[in-house]
Amino acid sequence: MADEAQAAAPPKKLVRRRPARQQVKPGQIEKKPLEQTGSVYNIFYHKWAGGDKYDEYNAKEKSQTRCVIATDAGYTRADGGRNNYCCLYFARGCCPLGSECEFLHRLPLPQHKLPDASRDCFGREKHAGYRDDMGGVGSFTRQNRTLYIGRVTMTRNTDEILEKHFNEWGEIERIKVLQGRGVGFVTFVTEIDAQFAKEAMMHQSLDNDEVLNVRWATEDPNPTAKVMEHARLKVLGEEGVQAKLTPEFIESVRQLDELEGVVPPRSPPPEEIEPVSKRMRLEPPPTAELIAPAAKDGLLSMNALASLKYAASLKTQAASKPPTTTGLGAIADYGSDSD
Ligand SMILES: [Zn+2]
Repeated sequence: MADEAQAAAPPKKLVRRRPARQQVKPGQIEKKPLEQTGSVYNIFYHKWAGGDKYDEYNAKEKSQTRCVIATDAGYTRADGGRNNYCCLYFARGCCPLGSECEFLHRLPLPQHKLPDASRDCFGREKHAGYRDDMGGVGSFTRQNRTLYIGRVTMTRNTDEILEKHFNEWGEIERIKVLQGRGVGFVTFVTEIDAQFAKEAMMHQSLDNDEVLNVRWATEDPNPTAKVMEHARLKVLGEEGVQAKLTPEFIESVRQLDELEGVVPPRSPPPEEIEPVSKRMRLEPPPTAELIAPAAKDGLLSMNALASLKYAASLKTQAASKPPTTTGLGAIADYGSDSD
């Protein structure tokens, strides 16, 4: 694990100063009518749905194009923060727009830069569950970083071949090969790289002219893996909460802790303490009983939960104190000033 972290040093997400290359000329791709495999044609995904089999599942024709990050990536109209989502056609190696494209022509931005966790790196909405065949965009209920790679031609160094081809799309955590089944599993460090790799490698070949079948892997049934994944998500969740805390908020929590005697008091200016103590009489602080049941096995630590609850109470207070004293606000003000 330690040398893995050291090996991860070189940055892979290059911001290129050159315009994105036109991957294909308009009209270059031979359009073949799709065999009807469902009852409804989805114009956004160019496939049939509603039937009990999907065209992709049966398609064994190799993709006509493939993305090459080293030569194809570059800036587009999306750069400069105007659009944080990647171009799906770029990932598949067939965007004819080049630098005129409204989507990014490079590897995805880190997860935390995406505005909406319910969408994938291409801006497509995730679903509650997986498709029956584990294809498609995937689920927002589970973080999945592992791809199932089917129809792999097995050789003695299949794992090295998989690494060579999938390394292009992001940092790989581990690779597992099921010899004799023609199947490999590639786990990326981040889900977002797996999303990109899945689109980039669908119907591509490795070294032996096969046509890969790339899907989301089902959950690892190994209990140790489950525990490790839970611990990893817990750390990520706490880091996420930490990143959202402002200095003012941390100060408020500190003051609250002092009042409750959790931490020894500093010598603060008295006028800052006064409004807090006044509020304390009106509203009970988040007590241990409130926090304890959820903190036992939750994703967030007890401190993080307490912080969130306190933030919520601050918000409610701000909302219920309008500048003009009307309605409930007037009553509340009267109550607080009369003693
Ligand atoms: Zn594009």
